[in-house]
Amino acid sequence: MFTQLKEKIIAESKKLGIDKIGFASADSFEALKDSLVEQKKSGHTSGFEHPVIDERIYPDKIFDQPRSIIAIALAYPTRLPQPPQKIRGEKRGRFARASWGIDYHDILNERMARLIDFIKRESPETDGLTFKPMVDTGELIDVAVAQRAGLGFIGKNGLLITEEFGSYVYLGEIITNIPFEPDTPITSQCGSCTKCIDLCPTSCLLGDGRMNAQRCLSYQTQTKGMMPKEFRPKIRTIIYGCDICQEVCPYNKGKNFHFHREMTPEPDVVFPLLKPLLTISNKEFKQTYGHLAGSWRGKKPIQRNAIIALANARDTTAVPQLLKLIEDDPRPVIRGTAVWAVGELTRSANQHLLDFLIDRQSKETAEEVLQELTEVIAKLTE
Ligand code: SF4
Repeated sequence: MFTQLKEKIIAESKKLGIDKIGFASADSFEALKDSLVEQKKSGHTSGFEHPVIDERIYPDKIFDQPRSIIAIALAYPTRLPQPPQKIRGEKRGRFARASWGIDYHDILNERMARLIDFIKRESPETDGLTFKPMVDTGELIDVAVAQRAGLGFIGKNGLLITEEFGSYVYLGEIITNIPFEPDTPITSQCGSCTKCIDLCPTSCLLGDGRMNAQRCLSYQTQTKGMMPKEFRPKIRTIIYGCDICQEVCPYNKGKNFHFHREMTPEPDVVFPLLKPLLTISNKEFKQTYGHLAGSWRGKKPIQRNAIIALANARDTTAVPQLLKLIEDDPRPVIRGTAVWAVGELTRSANQHLLDFLIDRQSKETAEEVLQELTEVIAKLTE
């Protein structure tokens, strides 16, 4: 009875714009428990994941009588349809690919809602059917579900790698009380390759699919405080996310799929001009970037990263704006990062700049800004 329904769901998923679908049992993910506990104990978690480990591995803790999990994947584009406009003297930053187009949480939730409607319509017995969809921020571990449902394997970079689309896929899942026949899980196909581990600039990958999330550059671009100095040059001009462990993976070679209109990147938005970001109003930020997944932490981390990116791009034309931020911006993180950037962009000190920084030092009260001021003044007076 449910075999027929499963076939109908697979056929309908294609019509709904779901690129891959698979079915997994709703058994526990017990095998992951030790590793998750260990990761938390070692301080290797980001803090963005669901906090209760048992709810991440036992579907019956979050759903009444789970019988199976439907896993879906949507492929996202990896190249812009056309390059952003070149503007003389203006440097651009970049949002990583998973933040191009409309926030994928919205896209996947919409697809899953339509799939659930279809299942309810098509089911032989509609009474008592239950569903719980989730994307990214839900309790379950998306890659673990997708792997069990046969969508792909988990690479040494911790991402789900599909045969057709590489790791450039968004994942979502629906727990249900319908007992679908499970698909066959796919085991790791990395073999002896270690490219993502070797080429990660912060060595955050531990080699077995796990990572020290605190060292992941994508995580670092999403924090709200001062970014540790070690990571600042490493983000280059990426103001949200990273992508290096995807770019170097042989399974991603040549992958670029523009299947979904909502994911079409706007080149001037996902490669934004950096200097205008420094003074953008809340309203304008929301209007221009509010639909991107990369805006979920608000304006401040993006502005902090834009300041770092300007220093990394060696854009000395930004210095007057940076000095203004040091003087006027009410947020210590922005003032402190601007002090660091001025220090990076100034090869030799002039007395005027030194006087300015010393004056700021005498008026500054925030510890993190004072620390940056002390270091930059010392550097410039060496
Ligand atoms: Fe696996 Fe190599 Fe891809 Fe890393 S780069 S996920 S080791 S195939």
